[in-house]
Amino acid sequence: MTVPFLDLRAPYLELREEIDEAVGRVLRSGWYLLGPEVEAFEAEFAAYCGAAQCVTVGSGGDALALILRALGIGAGDEVIVPAHTFIATWLAVSDTGATPVPVEPDPATFTMDPARIEAAITPRTQAILPVHLYGHPADLDAVRAIADRHGLAVVEDAAQSPGAVHNGRRIGAAPSTVAFSFYPGKNLGALGDSGAVVTSDRQLADKVRLLRNYGSRVKYQHEVLGTNSRTDELQAAVLRVKLSRLDEWNARRARVADRYLAGLKGLDLELPGVAEWAEHAWHLFVVRATDRDVLAARLGEAGVGTLVHYPVAVHASPAYQPLGLGPFPLSERLADEVLSLPIGPHLTDDQVGAVISAVRDAV
Ligand SMILES: *Cc1c(COP(=O)(O)O)cnc(C)c1O
Repeated sequence: MTVPFLDLRAPYLELREEIDEAVGRVLRSGWYLLGPEVEAFEAEFAAYCGAAQCVTVGSGGDALALILRALGIGAGDEVIVPAHTFIATWLAVSDTGATPVPVEPDPATFTMDPARIEAAITPRTQAILPVHLYGHPADLDAVRAIADRHGLAVVEDAAQSPGAVHNGRRIGAAPSTVAFSFYPGKNLGALGDSGAVVTSDRQLADKVRLLRNYGSRVKYQHEVLGTNSRTDELQAAVLRVKLSRLDEWNARRARVADRYLAGLKGLDLELPGVAEWAEHAWHLFVVRATDRDVLAARLGEAGVGTLVHYPVAVHASPAYQPLGLGPFPLSERLADEVLSLPIGPHLTDDQVGAVISAVRDAV
């Protein structure tokens, strides 16, 4: 049996009738941008998150960058970011002209270690940008307490965690300001690029709304230097269908994770931790192994697809080497040791069993 790391056709095939109907509805409408589907999805996703406002944009990276721009962050400012994350988190900061200042992770949950944040704060710091990495919420209570003490904004990167819960509240619920990505492989995936800003801060949402559409509220009246970063009607119509399944699909992910956690116990392998205040969205199931590359090769031979999220620590990538940041030994070690096993709502029970057997044989 082969188990691909990810099968992007499966979600479409499960919802084929509804998605085909939604796409046909948009095609026939003749309205392709900033229309009724976007408006409806924004209302539905804000309600899902427990927030007052949702503004869809072109991608998750744009959502982050536009929040930072709306907060007035730019050249000369610093934003605290996780050392261990996908590079897009940092790129959004760099995009504004500000400088990313990395903080090492808590290795149990892979999210930013709040105990290390204060040492990174300088007079130039404007915001802290925690990432709910792999679907596990960052320690928001601790991050917010530090931010309040220093008068800093908190901007969350929830690209990997729609539906995750922190202390009984969904990621995105007030008082958060959050960026989501609807890249096809994410838990809530469009059929192309898309993202959203979710907040209960009306003024901030209005600024992002202005920025995403050429700085214009009324056609050909341009109030600020905006850009073009929008989710189109086709994607919004598809996202509405997908959103109606998000909780069910996250629950299916959690069942796979529970089987992995039980079936892989006691091996020479570190399993992902879940904080007691967290409900994981299980975007990725990430284990740690000192001989990671050998394990990945053996799993590949057994027909099990794996990926590494991420093989190079962001500060060590050629893109960021000129900043001369680091060393960040924890993040560098994670880059050498992490391995993502297949997880998703469409894995069959047999496939999950095959992954467990293959890992047990390979370790
Ligand atoms: C996917 C991702 C992004 C960027 O989202 P895009 O929609 O691809 O721009 C940002 N941060 C994290 C942690 C991500 O996984």
